Amino acid sequence: MAIKVRFAPSPTGPLHIGGARSALFNYLFAAGEEGTFILRIEDTDLDRSSRESEQEIMEALRWLGISWNEGIEAGGENGPYRQTERLNTYQEYTQKLMDNGKAYHCYCSEEELEQERQDLIQRGETPRYLGRCRQLTAEQRKAFEDEGRKPVVRFRVPDNQQIIIHDSVRDKVVFESDGIGDYIIVKSDGIPTYNYAVVIDDVLMGITHVIRGEEHLSNTPRQVLIYEALGMSVPGFAHISLILNTEGRKMSKRDGDTAVLDYAKKGYLPQAVVNFIALLGWSPAGEQEFFSMDELIKGFSLERVSKSPAVFDLHKLNHINSYYIKQTPDEELVELVLPFLKEKGMFPEESISEEEKTWIAGFIGAVKEKINNLSEVKDYIGYFWGTDLEEPEQEAITILQAETLPAVLELFQSKILTTVPLDAPAAKVILKEITKELSLKGKDVFMPIRIALTGQMHGPDLDKIIALQGKDNISGRLSKTYSFLGLE
Ligand code: GLU
Repeated sequence: MAIKVRFAPSPTGPLHIGGARSALFNYLFAAGEEGTFILRIEDTDLDRSSRESEQEIMEALRWLGISWNEGIEAGGENGPYRQTERLNTYQEYTQKLMDNGKAYHCYCSEEELEQERQDLIQRGETPRYLGRCRQLTAEQRKAFEDEGRKPVVRFRVPDNQQIIIHDSVRDKVVFESDGIGDYIIVKSDGIPTYNYAVVIDDVLMGITHVIRGEEHLSNTPRQVLIYEALGMSVPGFAHISLILNTEGRKMSKRDGDTAVLDYAKKGYLPQAVVNFIALLGWSPAGEQEFFSMDELIKGFSLERVSKSPAVFDLHKLNHINSYYIKQTPDEELVELVLPFLKEKGMFPEESISEEEKTWIAGFIGAVKEKINNLSEVKDYIGYFWGTDLEEPEQEAITILQAETLPAVLELFQSKILTTVPLDAPAAKVILKEITKELSLKGKDVFMPIRIALTGQMHGPDLDKIIALQGKDNISGRLSKTYSFLGLE
């Protein structure tokens, strides 16, 4: 059987980590089985849905490298793929359900329903619809219509039935129909509810497996009843576990930092985010920690999706991201790092020159071992750019007060001025030569030069600092150091 799955976001906000994980698992499953992956937009919440969110969701999916072969923008023979453009289709099925008595019009007002709810709560029962409009006569219906009431359509939930869901993550899950109460499938404005539209679409689009978040598990019996009422076969289900934060609470959209594109803005690489979210609930067979998309496609299976909650651990994401940063050639990171440098006022022009590109690549090479995300490059600019230098701490000043300092710095400066090009290998040679020529230990040369150039006792590799600062900045920084020491 050809596999067909879908990701069906409601476009009521950006794509969050949880949604991205559902999309990814569907994508991986389809790709691994040579199946079809559909993107469908569930926009029946008219007040909260927007085209902007839809665009933003697609942008986030593309950023992650998740593509779909049918659906919004991709097209396909089961369209349209936006639920608000499928209202006629739902209407057809609603009519069928009404005709065979499986659904009915309900005229109850908000107030009447609220009263019923309160009464049930007071009696200690589960609030649910008790079926007041289940058996209305034609006269009763007419009377309500004459009052100007607009009906909703409710699904007639069969009494006393077990609803068994076969879920590949949770095995068999059993619900009782009695607790459910007839639920609304079409609102009074003619818009279908989620639990109804999702079934019609999944049926008509030939969905074979529904892979989605655990929060939808309680909706599933309502959906299964509709499949059964329509005489349609039920797809396979896989409800993936909640994602908890490290405090053990459910990650919510309100946790702030959960929109996928926020990670892009912070300088996380898409490969890292994909790798990270794949591990939120799926566990690979071996010890491997880092997976390319292709490896995920090969390795992914629903059998290895865990029942227990996944934990969103930012340290782990940072660990994975720093791995991918180190793996990526410096030149490929230039464009990604540029926005952060621009934030700091560097490279204000529209485009950058080849020389600037080379500088940025060198800068990335000098700091990439130290950062968890690309925005952190901002913390290192001061080591390499311009001549801003803070007065060193006392401990560092003491090092600069060594007797040998003037000789070291003088020799350093004269060598710098005559070295062309002044790149990192050349800087390394210069440092070695100074050690030799002045018969000093390495640290008596490296440390004072480092402090003189950066004001700090620690930091990125000194040869890279020298190459990236360049002659002019080095001269400027050395004069500042001399004046801190009262030598000028
Ligand atoms: N529109 C639903 C959501 O965004 C889709 C749920 C499903 O996959 O069935 O949560």
